[in-house]
Amino acid sequence: MTSPSAPLFAADAPALGGSAARGPTAARPRLTINLDALIANYRTLQRAAPTAHTGAAVKADGYGLGAVPIAQALAAAGCRHFFVANADEGVALRSARAVPDDAAIHILDGLMPGEEACYSAHALTPVLNTPDQVRRWAEARSTWRAAGPSTLHIDTGMNRLGLTAADLAAVLGAPDTLIAAQPTLIMSHLACAATPEHPLNARQAAQFQNAAARVRSVTPAARLSLANSAGVFMGEAYAFDLTRPGVALYGGRPFDERADPRAPTLTPVVTLEAPILQVRTIAAGESVGYGATHTAAAPAQIATVALGYADGFLRAAGAGGYGVLAGRNAPIVGRISMDLITVDVTAHGEAARPGALVAFLGAEAALDDQADAAGTISYEFLTRLGPRCARRYIGGAA
Ligand SMILES: *Cc1c(COP(=O)(O)O)cnc(C)c1O
Repeated sequence: MTSPSAPLFAADAPALGGSAARGPTAARPRLTINLDALIANYRTLQRAAPTAHTGAAVKADGYGLGAVPIAQALAAAGCRHFFVANADEGVALRSARAVPDDAAIHILDGLMPGEEACYSAHALTPVLNTPDQVRRWAEARSTWRAAGPSTLHIDTGMNRLGLTAADLAAVLGAPDTLIAAQPTLIMSHLACAATPEHPLNARQAAQFQNAAARVRSVTPAARLSLANSAGVFMGEAYAFDLTRPGVALYGGRPFDERADPRAPTLTPVVTLEAPILQVRTIAAGESVGYGATHTAAAPAQIATVALGYADGFLRAAGAGGYGVLAGRNAPIVGRISMDLITVDVTAHGEAARPGALVAFLGAEAALDDQADAAGTISYEFLTRLGPRCARRYIGGAA
């Protein structure tokens, strides 16, 4: 018992981040990122498009999993083309020396005015999305000797980024500027690869072929890239010279349709586990959690787990999401709250006890199941996994 004179806050309590805080404290969720699984998926993608080099989309901090360790592991496996969203993400990879100096880091958002010196200093490859960007990179290359080659992005139907048909005509109308910008890669992006039967896919591939041939009549050495993860599994017509998978590297299914016969077998990369804090028995008719949205039809055992939407486990996954305890599913019941999830462990007996770990992502709890339950996609689920989870990397060359 605390004596009445004891201070409310002990002066000698270990400071956060001090020696006592090394390693996760007992109540934190744990995120384990398996770099060997990442490499296994990289090899699967390589085998699916053997005539192309397999690049990697590592934007958004490597889909939330840590761009530096992810890129390091992929570089060790032979990957030499990395795609990020903005220059800051590229600088972070270069500063950490995550990839070899000769590996390309392509910046998908495009070359914004004033960024030329940064791209040059950090050996970043701008993705040129407009005629103005082509012109500015051509100029930058005449100013800075370190300014390297570029990637030319042709829009073939996404209508988001990249040269429109009119832009392409304008760029081809100034061939000296195009040559000066030194595009060594020509890319486009598929809008509907997640649904391979969609007629837009074949139209985009044909339009890309055609536009790329026109660019190559000016810069014949330029290589071609079209496929994201799904595109890698859509056959030779989509492979070209370089693929740019993201989500499949991280274990997310590339196609909307689960049963798609082209779907590869991927290895789960992320395991998310959280400890049970308390277990209680509730009577038939009692409810669980905010809004009393779940009412027990029969007496039930409810475990409260230290994981919530603040950790990135999306609140919407409450309806249909599940944990796995001792090899058995434990359905999420009631609303997911900021720090806590309640699961039904009536079937789990002695395994349901404080401190026992419940898995919410991993070999038994599929990323795509939880994303489906949340009405979203694995991409969003991964990129939301938050800093409160204690992170650990296993496998890889290191
Ligand atoms: C994100 C992205 C990719 C990777 O897409 P996945 O569907 O995750 O494989 C490839 N290319 C571009 C242009 C992207 O923005």
